[in-house]
Amino acid sequence: MILNERLKDIEENLLELRDKISQAAVQSGRSENDVTLMAVTKTVESGYINHAISNGIDLIGENKVQEYLLKKPELSLENCKAHLIGHLQSNKVKKIVGEVDVIQSVDSVSLAAEIAKRSAEKGIVSKVLLEVNAGNEESKFGFDVSELEERVYEISEFKSVSVQGLMCVAPICDSESALRAVFSDMHRAYLDIRSKNINNVSMNILSMGMSGDYREAILEGSTLVRVGSAIFGARNYR
Ligand SMILES: *Cc1c(COP(=O)(O)O)cnc(C)c1O
Repeated sequence: MILNERLKDIEENLLELRDKISQAAVQSGRSENDVTLMAVTKTVESGYINHAISNGIDLIGENKVQEYLLKKPELSLENCKAHLIGHLQSNKVKKIVGEVDVIQSVDSVSLAAEIAKRSAEKGIVSKVLLEVNAGNEESKFGFDVSELEERVYEISEFKSVSVQGLMCVAPICDSESALRAVFSDMHRAYLDIRSKNINNVSMNILSMGMSGDYREAILEGSTLVRVGSAIFGARNYR
């Protein structure tokens, strides 16, 4: 059931969020148009997602292949793109290739190889971001910054995959300066790779920042923030 009150909250949250994103963008020496707002829609019912879309959201992010494919027929995606942002298992690649505009969560060369294989079968080139384990946390997904460049060169060999940028989920940090250092390292890696002009690799998207840390991410150069709970409220995992 769709609650009117929650629809109102979504509208207000979006207004406030756009304002704050714009302020942070200006503070970082850019304009609001330089930062894309993605609405992260995991666990959110289609009615609320469509309401966000009718209030100007033109990019959504889903974590799970199955959940996204179930909701997709109910979503008003004529003027809205979708990215996969959650961990992707190899056996799900076949299902998702061609169904989203970008797969943001490529965290191994073998996953990139599988995406390339399935994309070639469908006659398409899949746009991807490489996920970086920004805080070097043991339990997290993503490439270590230290191996990133080497892996980018390996993945650039796959003709049916086009690397468009980097993505990270920041670790919990004790201080704002520690958090900003994580984002700043990401930005440096992004610019480093861009300066190499690697075939088949363009660095146009730096996807970092969520509800709790989008401001710091934008101040350090994020071009795409992935915001869920600050739009839709706390998630209800059933
Ligand atoms: C859930 C999720 C988000 C959004 O998280 P919020 O804190 O609700 O904004 C962003 N990125 C990824 C990869 C996620 O899984």
